[in-house]
Amino acid sequence: MAVTKSDTKLLKNFINGEWVESESSEQLEVPNPATGELLARVPISTKKDVDKAVKAAEAAFQTWKNVPVPKRARIMYKFHHLLNENHEELAHLLVQENGKAFKEAYGEIQRGIECVEFAAGAPTHLMGETLSNIAEDIDSEMFRYPLGVVGGITPFNFPMMVPLWMFPLAIVCGNTFILKPSERTPILANRLAELITEAGAPKGVFNIVHGAHDVVNGLLDHEDIKAISFVGSQPVAKYVYQTAAQNGKRVQALSGAKNHHIVMPDADLDKAVQNIISSTFGSAGQRCMACSAVVVVGENDALVQALREKADGLTIGNGMDEETLLTPVIRESHREKVVGYIEKGVQEGAALIRDGRQEMTDSKDGNFLGPTIFDHVTPQMTIAKEEIFAPVLSLLRAESLDEGLDYIRKSRYGNGATLYTKDASAVRKFREEADAGMLGINVGVPATMAFFPFSGWKDSFYGDLHVNGKDGINFYTRKKMITSRYDY
Ligand code: NAD
Repeated sequence: MAVTKSDTKLLKNFINGEWVESESSEQLEVPNPATGELLARVPISTKKDVDKAVKAAEAAFQTWKNVPVPKRARIMYKFHHLLNENHEELAHLLVQENGKAFKEAYGEIQRGIECVEFAAGAPTHLMGETLSNIAEDIDSEMFRYPLGVVGGITPFNFPMMVPLWMFPLAIVCGNTFILKPSERTPILANRLAELITEAGAPKGVFNIVHGAHDVVNGLLDHEDIKAISFVGSQPVAKYVYQTAAQNGKRVQALSGAKNHHIVMPDADLDKAVQNIISSTFGSAGQRCMACSAVVVVGENDALVQALREKADGLTIGNGMDEETLLTPVIRESHREKVVGYIEKGVQEGAALIRDGRQEMTDSKDGNFLGPTIFDHVTPQMTIAKEEIFAPVLSLLRAESLDEGLDYIRKSRYGNGATLYTKDASAVRKFREEADAGMLGINVGVPATMAFFPFSGWKDSFYGDLHVNGKDGINFYTRKKMITSRYDY
C-alpha cells in the first residue's frame, strides 16, 4: 500500500494506514540537540486520538490474527530488506533528533534490524508443544495465540532500537500495535510506519499516536488494550506497571539504571580505560547500559589518572562530525538537572577531578556538557545512588571484590554490571554474586542481542517477561491447552 510522506513540520499520527491530524491543538517543538535547529513539531494528542487508534487496531486484529504465520513472517523479511536499504537515511534521522554520534546511530539501526531478523523466525518461535498419552488414550497440546491490541511507550534515547524491541515481535505474533514514541524524538517513528506499510503490514496493524502523558494514560486505561510494553525512567516505569496491572493488562516496564564497573588490580589498564570511557561518555551517557560508577579495587591511582587524561582528550561536538565522541544531552532542561547533580556531588564531599561545566555552550548552540568525573564517591552520596543519565562518572574506592559487589547489591538498580579482570575465580564469583541482570566480563556495554532477554533486575525492570528472545514471544502470546480423549 502506498503512503504519502509524513509532514516534517507538524507530525501526524498514523492510524489505520493513514496520516491523521491529532485532535489536539497543543504541540511541542522538536529541536536538534546539537544545533537548536527546529526539526518538527509534535502534537500532544488526546485520549480521543487514542480511541481512534484502538478502534482501528481492534478492527484490524480480527483479520490479522488469522493471517497464516509464514505470511506474517514474510512481511518481516521485506521490512528487514527495507531497513537495510535505508540504513544510512535512518541513521541520519536519528542523529538529527537525538544528537548521538553517527556511528552510534548506525549501530542502533543495526540493533533494530536484528530484532526484525528474530521476528522473522516466527514460524519456529510460535510452535506449540504436545505430549501424547498423558493418561490412557489422552493427549495434550499447547497452541499459542495473540493477545489483541498491544501498546508500546518508548523513551528518547533509542528512537529506533526500543520501538523495534516491541512492534515487530508483537505483530508477527498476530497482535496489532499502537506506538507512543517519545515526544522528544518522534520523527524516526513516522519513517518506520512508512517502511512497515511498504513491507505489507495491512491497515491498522501498526499505528502511531504522538504525545505525552495523556496518550500514555489513554493506553493504560483503555479496556481494549491487552498489554503494555514500556521503556523509560524509573518513576514512570513503576507508575505504568502499577496502573496497567491494576487495569488487568499484561505489562513489561523497563526502567532506569546505575551500572557499576569493577576494575580489579590485575585488569588490562588500557583496555579497561577504553571500555569505560566509551561506555560512560558515548551517547553523552544517555544509555540505560552506560557505565556510571567505577569501583576502583586497590590503590589504582594509575587508573584514575588514565581516565581523567582520556576524558580530557575527548572530542565534543555534533554527532555528524566523524571525530566526535561526546555529543549533546537531549534538552537544555536535562542539562540544568545534570548541573544540579554536579553541584550536589561537590556539596556532599566528592572530589570533582574533572568538571564538564567548563565545556558548556550557550544552549542555542547545542546542549553540550563536557565529561565530568568525581573521585572518592561513597555509596551514600546522591550522585552514587541516582541515575544522572549524562556524561558524569563516579569513582568509588574499594579494598576488595567483595566490597565492590556490596556496592552493586546496595544499589536499587540492577540493569548491568561489568568486571575487568584476568582472574577466572573473580569472574566466577562476580557471575554468581553480582546483583544485576546483564553482566559484562571485560565488556563495556553488556547489552543483550535480540534473541536473548534484555533482563534488568530490581528497580530496573517491573514485570516478569522481558523484551526480546523467548520472553518476548511469551509476552506477546497466550497459551491454549487442549486435552483430547480418543477412545470414544
Ligand atoms: P521518560 O520516562 O521521561 O519517558 C519515557 C516515556 O514515558 C515517553 O514516551 C514519555 O512521553 C512518557 N512519560 C514521561 N513522563 C510521563 C508521565 N509522568 N506519565 C506518563 N507518561 C510519561 O524517559 P526518557 O527520559 O525518555 O528516557 C530515559 C530513561 O529511560 C532513563 O531512565 C533510561 O535508563 C531509561 N531506559 C531504560 C532502558 C532499559 O532497558 N531499562 C532502555 C532505554 C532507556
